[in-house]
Amino acid sequence: MSLLKDFLLQLTLMVIPIFIYFTFIIERVKRSKNRTLIMSILWGISIIFCMSFPVNFGQNARLEIRIIPLLFGTLYGGFWPGIILSALIILYRLYFGISIGFYNTVLVLVFSLPVILFFQRSFASSKKDKRVKIAVSLAFYYCAIGLTFSGFLRGFSIDHLKVQIIHLLFVVVVTYFLTMLNETIMEIHKLRLEMQKSEKLRVISELTSVFAHEIRNPMQVTRGFLQLLNEPDLSKEKKEYIQISIEELDRANGIISDFLSFGKPTIDSNERINVGYQLHRVVNIIKGYSLNHSVEIKTDILENCWIYANPQKLNQSLINILKNAIESMPNGGIVWVTCTSTDDGYIKITIKDQGIGMTKKQIERLGSPFYSLKESGTGLGMMVSFQIVHSFKGKIQVNSETDKGTEFIILLPQIA
Ligand code: ADP
Ligand code: MG
Repeated sequence: MSLLKDFLLQLTLMVIPIFIYFTFIIERVKRSKNRTLIMSILWGISIIFCMSFPVNFGQNARLEIRIIPLLFGTLYGGFWPGIILSALIILYRLYFGISIGFYNTVLVLVFSLPVILFFQRSFASSKKDKRVKIAVSLAFYYCAIGLTFSGFLRGFSIDHLKVQIIHLLFVVVVTYFLTMLNETIMEIHKLRLEMQKSEKLRVISELTSVFAHEIRNPMQVTRGFLQLLNEPDLSKEKKEYIQISIEELDRANGIISDFLSFGKPTIDSNERINVGYQLHRVVNIIKGYSLNHSVEIKTDILENCWIYANPQKLNQSLINILKNAIESMPNGGIVWVTCTSTDDGYIKITIKDQGIGMTKKQIERLGSPFYSLKESGTGLGMMVSFQIVHSFKGKIQVNSETDKGTEFIILLPQIA
């Protein structure tokens, strides 16, 4: 009975950091660096408790699952949390005295930490299922190494092996459940953020469609009268004022146009369209603009990729992204436009530039209304594009590095 209690305690020590993190930290701490730091501290505390209250299997057989906080800390946190948590394990083990167990701890860490760090990168870029597989395999590997070394150091015996195998099973099962738990909560959290964002956009789109028309009419009237005022015998100065007024009105009109095009396309307006064909059209439309900026557009477009969407809206969102790509290269360069189909049923459009790029923070703000770093930018292009792609049940991913360039990946559900 007391064994069971010990195991349950160990399990609880693993779950508590996850709950603390998702309940108190993830929403309140905005910087991801700080979040990683706090999570590492939580895992560190968990390791200390874990090692202080191990499962006791008679003499010399202390079992605990400190690998799990170490594994999670490293896989989710990266290199430094991994190193620091390992150092913590070694130091705390040292506190219990130098014995065979201590050497065992050090040896196992030396052989397993590099492997965990090696797989951390592919873990970070993987999806849920693969993540679970990586975490479980690493936990298994760690325990297998532990089993081998302690066999060599203490001698192989049936009793000892039994304990180790129970340990291995326990660790693997707990790793599986905790990774699933962590990933599921993260998914729900992400979904909630997306919902909040799309709700914000929905409200804006409703407001705009009401106001835009009302504002446009008086503007058109004003513009008309301004043109009438512009008589040949006016002084040069006054002519200039009128010209500026008209230009400003046109600019305001442009912003309203951007806004109006934003909003859900009605279901009726969607049709079966060939993305390849539309991409060629878009590239042709924007060619003049790109030449003016000494930008060359290179294409590699798969013909015959069909999606269900509204062609005008799709083109508009592509033009917005292409325009940004061109504008990101003040000294000219190349924009690559490709279109392929993916194994999981999407049409994948990529638009890649060699421009100034964006920082992580800038990428996060991308698509917020009026977010622009340009002198005469409206900060509406991306908002409109995101909204349009989402309305076709598509996704946009942005990869960017400052001074290297930006890549927009648009995924749209393919139809036969
Ligand atoms: P605007 O182009 O009017 O500024 P957008 O919504 O189209 O508004 O873009 C918002 C901001 O995002 C831009 O001002 C720019 O700073 C940034 N941005 C968008 N695309 C790129 C890109 N390809 N490279 C670098 N920065 C970009
Ligand atoms: Mg733009």
